[in-house]
Amino acid sequence: MSNIEKKNPIVLSIAGSDSSGGAGIQADIKTITTHGCYAATTITCVTSQNSHGIFDIVPIPTSNIISQIETTLQDYEVDAIKIGMVYDSDIIGAIVEVLKDTDIPIVIDPVMVASSSQSLTQQKAIDSMKKKLLPLATIITPNIPEAKILLGSRWVENLKVNAWNLARDFGCNVLLKTGHLSRIEDILVEVQTETLSLFAFNKLETTNTHGTGCTLSAAIASEIAKGNPLKEAVNLSTKYIHELLKASMNMGDHIFNGPMYHCIV
Ligand code: PLP
Repeated sequence: MSNIEKKNPIVLSIAGSDSSGGAGIQADIKTITTHGCYAATTITCVTSQNSHGIFDIVPIPTSNIISQIETTLQDYEVDAIKIGMVYDSDIIGAIVEVLKDTDIPIVIDPVMVASSSQSLTQQKAIDSMKKKLLPLATIITPNIPEAKILLGSRWVENLKVNAWNLARDFGCNVLLKTGHLSRIEDILVEVQTETLSLFAFNKLETTNTHGTGCTLSAAIASEIAKGNPLKEAVNLSTKYIHELLKASMNMGDHIFNGPMYHCIV
């Protein structure tokens, strides 16, 4: 007889640690918990950072990354996986090896460059990300600079065309985030139904946006884990980010973007 007493949805975050607590694994745990889900983690690398920049990145050995993922999946019934900072091609290979046959929904934030302009993925890993990792996704959530890197010379002026092209390239749903523009209108392309939906928001005057992408992808994974259809998961999650940004406050004398505020419930 099973001795499981109660099961909240479980979300596994596979991501980097952000010592400043605004992004990465730390943002994911806060977001998943706020959504009423249970957060399990696999740490891919440990960063030392604050609002002045990223000062050190230590990748975790791939044998340990594989073991972190496997031990969680062997014991818990995980409802959704979120993948964030993967840093190098060895780490990508290890994650792909463990997850290649899973049917658990996977949300991938193709993290490449931090808002401080520092690199979170080695240049030579971008090819493995495109060829091996992104095709495993249920949905990818690139921002405009990341989408430009993913499409390369095929990037065009029309954002909707770019979103469709990403969906075709990687065979997955796409949320193209437009927070870098003066008018926010995120684009969701769903491949199975061949539908496009838009999520528009007024741009907020805040520089406390560090961790926005991590938080959004963790929120989408949580909403999927709770059983929401994809469009509703994206709808609820984009609204959640907007509310967090409204509540954001300066936490210190930051140089680049300060952390978004995770603590409203
Ligand atoms: N640090 C880690 C570990 C991250 O995963 C990310 C983004 O995914 C960042 C830093 C950068 O966050 P932002 O670009 O929001 O400043």
